[in-house]
Amino acid sequence: MKNVTQLENIANKVVLVRVDFNVPQKDGVISDNNRIVAALPTIKELLGKGAKVVLMSHLGKVKWKDIKKGKATLEDIEKQKAKNNMAPVADELAKLLPGVNVSFSAATRGAELSDKVAALKAGEVLLVQNTRYEAGEEANDAELAKEWASFADAFVMDAFGSAHRAHASTVGVPELLKKEGKQTAVGFLVEKEVLNLKKVVEVPADRHPYVAILGGFKVSDKIKVIESLLSKCDKIIIGGAMSYTFKVALGGKVGKSPYEQDQIEYAKKMYETGKIVLPIDSVVANDFENPTDVRIVPSDNIPDGFEGMDIGPKTRELYVKEIASAKTVFWNGPMGVFERDEFAAGTAAVCEACANLKDAFTVIGGGDSASAAKKLGYKEKFSHVSTGGGASLEMIENNGHLPGIDVIGD
Ligand code: ADP
Ligand code: MG
Repeated sequence: MKNVTQLENIANKVVLVRVDFNVPQKDGVISDNNRIVAALPTIKELLGKGAKVVLMSHLGKVKWKDIKKGKATLEDIEKQKAKNNMAPVADELAKLLPGVNVSFSAATRGAELSDKVAALKAGEVLLVQNTRYEAGEEANDAELAKEWASFADAFVMDAFGSAHRAHASTVGVPELLKKEGKQTAVGFLVEKEVLNLKKVVEVPADRHPYVAILGGFKVSDKIKVIESLLSKCDKIIIGGAMSYTFKVALGGKVGKSPYEQDQIEYAKKMYETGKIVLPIDSVVANDFENPTDVRIVPSDNIPDGFEGMDIGPKTRELYVKEIASAKTVFWNGPMGVFERDEFAAGTAAVCEACANLKDAFTVIGGGDSASAAKKLGYKEKFSHVSTGGGASLEMIENNGHLPGIDVIGD
């Protein structure tokens, strides 16, 4: 697989780069430009070689599928488009690239777009409007991919967060370009993600114990990753709301904590592998929104009317011990409702235990887990914090493969 530095003869050529500019914004104000900043090294590398850089990304959701299902009208789609307009991103990008001519195409196809691409000069950047303005993007429509591929001399994939999706801009376009013998490569961001995540996908004997920490909300969201991790790691530590399904499966009483009835048999089976470690005590509250009674109780005996909000102090101690001997750690999903200080201790303890490891490789793969680590001040202590929640999980599930990355290889 080529990286962006290995592209040849791209001066004066149009290089189409799929970036991840799916930034949080409200009323045209971007609240976090991290993802734009993260794409700059790849963009600068191409500009330095005199390429004409065309950038494409999705932004937010435009639910075309709801039209087919009769759940939305074209008017709804127009509202979603307006909410997810990429124009403010072009302004932000221009600020981050002083001295570079950055333009924006409000059109996602047709003459307006092709004229703008044709007008580009070497060392200039064109950002195209949100790819999801097109219904064919998520459907990987052949005609759409053909039109986008038609103006590109080469393609660079640098949107790790979208690499698990086989869409027109992530898979359709590079597939076509490769058939035409054109160059495709990964950008710096994707290259770094792949190198780092490989280390939690294939873990050699001398990098064990391999401990996975899973939390967050639902077991059903993470079934495939649990199965895959069971074959790879030595222990799976479980916290968060998903632990209650396991507790019910083992005959525990969980009060009004959320659990999934239809996952109970599955949870039992997983538990029988002997690799799963569950909470022994929980911080519980009488009300999720307005807790007036907060207690610490055994995790398998939560009183009626109470709901689990975090792992308890004994569990924190147990989990810190389990993590202490690890040489490889993959963490996805907070141990509790970390967004609120009174329920953040479990997640903080797990973060600290990872931070204290000396000779270990530690990875966070999950959007909320990454924000938890950041909020609690541990983000810098991890070996790698993935920019793609879903993509990193799917990479583990598929043993290192993602459609948007495999397509770049030979
Ligand atoms: P990630 O984005 O890292 O993959 P998830 O999206 O699976 O993580 O889960 C994160 C959410 O789970 C957080 O918003 C957190 O508040 C919530 N959560 C964790 N534990 C509990 C709990 N015991 N009860 C309710 N919500 C919880
Ligand atoms: Mg999440």
